[in-house]
Amino acid sequence: MKIAILGGGTAGVIAATHLSKTMPEADLLHIHDSRLPTIGVGEGTTPRFPAWLAQTTGLGFEDLQQHCLATLKRGTRFEGWGQGASGFANRFHPSDLIGYHFDAGRILDLMRPHIRARRIDARVHRLDSRDDGVTVHLDGGALEHCHYVIDARGFPANANAGRAEDGGDLIRLGWIPTGQAMLRWLPEACQGGLTRAVARPHGWIFMIPLQGRVSSGYLHHPDCSTPAEVAADFDAFLADEGVTTWDDRGLLPFPNFLRRAPFDGRVFRVGNAASFVEPLEATSIGASILQIRAAERWMTQGNCDTPPVCEQVEHYNAGMRSYIIRNSLFIAWHYACGAAWDTPFWRQAARGLERAADHPDAADHLAAMQAFIDAGHHLPGPMLSDYEDAESWQEEIFPLLKLYVPYGNFSELNFAQVGHGIGYYNKGVAA
Ligand SMILES: Cc1cc2nc3c(=O)[nH]c(=O)nc-3n(C[C@H](O)[C@H](O)[C@H](O)COP(=O)(O)OP(=O)(O)OC[C@H]3O[C@@H](n4cnc5c(N)ncnc54)[C@H](O)[C@@H]3O)c2cc1C
Repeated sequence: MKIAILGGGTAGVIAATHLSKTMPEADLLHIHDSRLPTIGVGEGTTPRFPAWLAQTTGLGFEDLQQHCLATLKRGTRFEGWGQGASGFANRFHPSDLIGYHFDAGRILDLMRPHIRARRIDARVHRLDSRDDGVTVHLDGGALEHCHYVIDARGFPANANAGRAEDGGDLIRLGWIPTGQAMLRWLPEACQGGLTRAVARPHGWIFMIPLQGRVSSGYLHHPDCSTPAEVAADFDAFLADEGVTTWDDRGLLPFPNFLRRAPFDGRVFRVGNAASFVEPLEATSIGASILQIRAAERWMTQGNCDTPPVCEQVEHYNAGMRSYIIRNSLFIAWHYACGAAWDTPFWRQAARGLERAADHPDAADHLAAMQAFIDAGHHLPGPMLSDYEDAESWQEEIFPLLKLYVPYGNFSELNFAQVGHGIGYYNKGVAA
């Protein structure tokens, strides 16, 4: 079977590494254009990444520590969100699960030697899917005929952040209130094992502690705040933190979206080419892993010479949509109680779930979220994040669970930590 993987960013490298390991008989091409940069962000993960990395490459934390400025991540600490002044953590569960923080560029260098594929440095101009395969059109008229393509070429050209409406194959996640990040690298700070997400008047600031620096970004919406307003508040926040020097990394607009049909029967979209939800819970790298695992299952279980069955393709796409939409709704719920700031950003952020309720692709998933919100209500809140010991977690927390199934990437424990943390259950805000 011949498979082309397009893109040399995190998603493309994950896909190429994964298929090198799991489909050793396949003829793999890895095509990306070295003149086009990768996005350069994506430095915090969920526990899905360490588990996948160890399984696929044998690489562990010590390797990442040595080569990628890595630190361990046990979850996210929220400051200034909702009604609570003291902040709260949304920790990974069970308590022995960890994610990583790492440098987005260096992780690619570490994974590349595990790719067994013919490398082609060229721009892809077009993909033509047919029932029996797909043709990849490259620079200078060169063609590659493949059974399947994994398309990880980053954000679709028509997905710019300014437009809120759905269009063509794209579903806009209009309940997510951010659309741009102002990025800065800060001097090294103490590593508390958590990403920090700090609510501010124009949005929120992430702080990802690496060895030797902190990656930081101010997430906001360009319709609510100007770059000068965001920069002034970023400066003020950093001054309060005692930070006086940094590297400006520029402004990065991003769309919150998903493709209605990330798979057409021959081309699988993965990473930012398939979907993007703001990084509040750092779900994107995990989503890329989920997407390439699903693609691998499809390719290994079917017959690559027979035409794809429409109903099966739609079933595949519905599963992908559900995962991304549910993640996006859980993230939108973080904003449901607003923050200490009564600003245009927070006023529109707090109404996100109302917008989702009116959206035909989100309404059913929003209704399904209620069971998780209810389950979270009956669980303890902040003390869940204090559990360090896996054995007592197993004995004391596990029996309290009611649902035992995930909602996207999240469980009732995540709902409990966030819901109690933002004061949702005290306030009785309608979902
Ligand atoms: C502000 C911000 C913070 C983020 N933080 C996190 C986080 O903490 N955790 C997380 O999981 N995710 C995070 N993300 C998401 C992150 O962007 C993705 O997880 C990850 O970088 C995936 O990128 P990608 O590989 O899909 O695309 P890209 O990095 O854009 O790579 C695209 C690749 O395709 C190639 N290419 C493009 N067009 C062509 C063409 N026509 N022909 C040939 N090659 C082509 C490029 O050369 C490049 O190699 C964040 C995103 C933003 C915006």
